[in-house]
Amino acid sequence: MSQPLFDKIAIIGLGLIGSSIARAARAQGAVREIVATARSPRTRNRVVELGLADQVVETNAEAVEGADLVIVCVPVGACGAVAKEIGPHLKPGATISDVGSVKRSVVRDMGSHMPKNVHFVPAHPVAGTEHSGPDAGFAELFTNRWCILTPPEGTDAEAVERLAAFWRLLGAKVETMTPEHHDIVLAITSHVPHLIAYNIVGTAADMEEVTQSEVVKFSAGGFRDFTRIAASDPVMWRDVFLNNKEAVLEMLGRFSEDLASLQRMIRWDDGAALEALFNRTRAIRRGIIEAGQDTEAADFGRPHGHDD
Ligand code: NAP
Repeated sequence: MSQPLFDKIAIIGLGLIGSSIARAARAQGAVREIVATARSPRTRNRVVELGLADQVVETNAEAVEGADLVIVCVPVGACGAVAKEIGPHLKPGATISDVGSVKRSVVRDMGSHMPKNVHFVPAHPVAGTEHSGPDAGFAELFTNRWCILTPPEGTDAEAVERLAAFWRLLGAKVETMTPEHHDIVLAITSHVPHLIAYNIVGTAADMEEVTQSEVVKFSAGGFRDFTRIAASDPVMWRDVFLNNKEAVLEMLGRFSEDLASLQRMIRWDDGAALEALFNRTRAIRRGIIEAGQDTEAADFGRPHGHDD
C-alpha cells in the first residue's frame, strides 16, 4: 500500500470505468475515502452491495462536497450537464477530471462550468472491454495501459503531475497531449475500428443468402472478433461518434479511398500489391505485441481488455 495521493475522491458514474477506478484506487491505497454516485438508484444500490465505495450518495452535487479529486465517468454527451451541476459545489483547489473517449468536446462542455479556483485536467484511460455497468469493472483494467491527459494551457503543473501519479499508481502509463491531437489519434486507433466492426456485423445481420445460424456457426473465421467490439455500449459509442465527428469523418474518407484501392487490386488480380500490404499490416501487429499492448495467445473468448 502506498501513501494516499488524495484524501477524498468523488466518482460520478459507476459503470465499467468508474467502478474499475474505485476498485483500483482502493486496491492501491491511492485515496483515503471514496464517495460514489450514479444516475439510477439501481446502480447506486449495486455499488453499495458490491462495497465499492465508503459512501454512496444520491446527487452529483452532494458527491463533490469536500472532494479533492472528482472524476466524471459518464458518456461524453452527458459530461457538460454533470459539470454544470457540480460547478458551484466544488472544493477550492480540487482537481476535476473525466475519462471520456473524446477530449475536444469534453474540454468545451465541462470547461465552461469550472470555477477559477479548481484544476481541470481532462483524461482518457485507453483501456476497456465491451461490458458495461458496476459489475463489469476490475482493479487491473488499467495495468500497463495508457492514460492520456489533455490539460488546457496554463493548468497548474503540480495538479497535472498529481493526477498523473494517481493514474500511475492504478497501473497506467501516462502521456500528455492536446485535446485536438488526442481526438485524431483515437479516431484512427479506436473510433473508426469500432465503426468498421459495427458496420460489418450489421451487414452480416442483413444478409439474405447466408443464414444467421451460419454466421454464428462459422464465426471463428474472423467475424467473431468483430462481434466482440460491436457489442460495446451503444450509448457510449453513439456519443463518441457525435462528439468526434470531424476527426472520424476525415479518417473515414481516407479509409474509403484505401478500401477502393484494395477493391481494385482484387479486381485486377494484383496479388503482389495485396501481399505487400498484408506484410506491412502484419508488422504492425508484431509492434503491438512487442510494446506489450496485447499477447500472442489465441483469443478463444478469454477475458480481454481492449483499447477504447
Ligand atoms: P458504462 O459502464 O455504461 O457506465 C456509464 C455510467 O454513466 C453509469 O453509471 C450510468 O449511470 C452513467 N450515465 C449514463 N448516462 C448518463 C447521463 N445521461 N447522465 C448521468 N449519468 C449517466 O460506461 P463506461 O464504459 O464506464 O464509460 C464511461 C465513460 O468512460 C465514457 O465517457 C466513455 O467514453 C469512457 N471510456 C469507456 C471505455 C470503455 O471501453 N467502455 C474506455 C475508456 C473510456 P446508470 O448506471 O445509473 O445508468
